[in-house]
Amino acid sequence: MTTDFPSLRAQFDVPEGVIYLDGNSLGPLPRATAARVGQAITQEWGKMLITGWNKAGWMAQPTAIGDRIARLIGAEAGSVVMGDTLSIKVYQALAAALEMNPKRRVILSDTGNFPSDLYMAEGLCRTLGPDYTLKTVAPEDVADAIDDSVAVLMITEVDYRTGRKHDMAALTALAHKAGALTVWDLAHSAGALPVALAKCQADFAVGCTYKYLNSGPGGPAFIYVAPRHHDTARPALSGWLGHEAPFAFDLDYRPGAGVERMRVGTPPVLQLAALEASLDIWDQVDMADVRARSIALIDRFIAGVEARCPDLVFASPRDGTQRGSQASFRHPEGYAIMQALIAQDVIGDFRAPDILRFGFTPLFINEDDVDKAIAIIGDVMDNDLWDQPAYKTRARVT
Ligand SMILES: *Cc1c(COP(=O)(O)O)cnc(C)c1O
Repeated sequence: MTTDFPSLRAQFDVPEGVIYLDGNSLGPLPRATAARVGQAITQEWGKMLITGWNKAGWMAQPTAIGDRIARLIGAEAGSVVMGDTLSIKVYQALAAALEMNPKRRVILSDTGNFPSDLYMAEGLCRTLGPDYTLKTVAPEDVADAIDDSVAVLMITEVDYRTGRKHDMAALTALAHKAGALTVWDLAHSAGALPVALAKCQADFAVGCTYKYLNSGPGGPAFIYVAPRHHDTARPALSGWLGHEAPFAFDLDYRPGAGVERMRVGTPPVLQLAALEASLDIWDQVDMADVRARSIALIDRFIAGVEARCPDLVFASPRDGTQRGSQASFRHPEGYAIMQALIAQDVIGDFRAPDILRFGFTPLFINEDDVDKAIAIIGDVMDNDLWDQPAYKTRARVT
């Protein structure tokens, strides 16, 4: 498959004049989404009422859609299921992995991980008992910290701030050699770069769909369980839809077959309909093409910004193969600078303490956008356009 990028771009509804470099935080709206969700509301919910669970296939959506995502992350068919939010899926994967390695008590992660993953791990350790601990080391020290005390290695492949990418194949192999299981968070990988879960022999993986996969705010997460663990991974969040026979209404829990046991409760049908519309676009995409073009666009952006703005300090790996689909720069006034850029329709985001983050996806960003963004960033920096009180008051969401 060769990916037709101009055709993909035409399938997104980005407001005229906006250069959207924040699809890594919230992907933009596909043109087909409103009609698809509208149809789910009026034709399915409205007309079918409760029969929609069977007739419209609502109950089968979480695995059917999981299979479409599996293609994008190098996972086996039947090994991915949708539901809940990413934080919940992190908890589920971690709990199952810990239980599968019962002699060990340490979760190993790194200080570049997204805080929610670390918080969920802390909470789980507290529930399991005082001998369970979360150990975090600097990202570059992860490989050396994998020893035979580690039960589970929990790593987010791409750092949300800097875009630095971990080596999934190498770390998974090291973890397995030391007798540990792996939980990979693909929040900034799924839809950003090719992922090869099966080939790397990852044990568990989780990710969200509202970032690169464009399912919209509040879109559901996914969880991957390697087929070899399907019968041994026991769900800690043992909800009825993960039961072997939900509609038998047994009083005792028996985990369902395969990855479906990681379902918890009622699926978010309308959000899944939105995700279906976006996956119709993703079905036209070859991830290798996305990767090559993403690296080229970001290299162009970095070169342009560094040439125009010496005060912005580049904060991502320079080698495109070592980063995700984003570029970050540091500046002590990063928050105000980003507000000034947003006021000029160049939308990125700010991550404390001083990171300006720009996400790129060739699905709707092209060279012309990159060049315009560079010119606007140059203008904001040359003329100190950020230096206004209005740009320095932090909103609730940065
Ligand atoms: C975006 C992100 C989250 C967010 O979790 P939600 O439960 O979906 O809010 C968690 N972990 C990582 C690594 C993320 O990048």
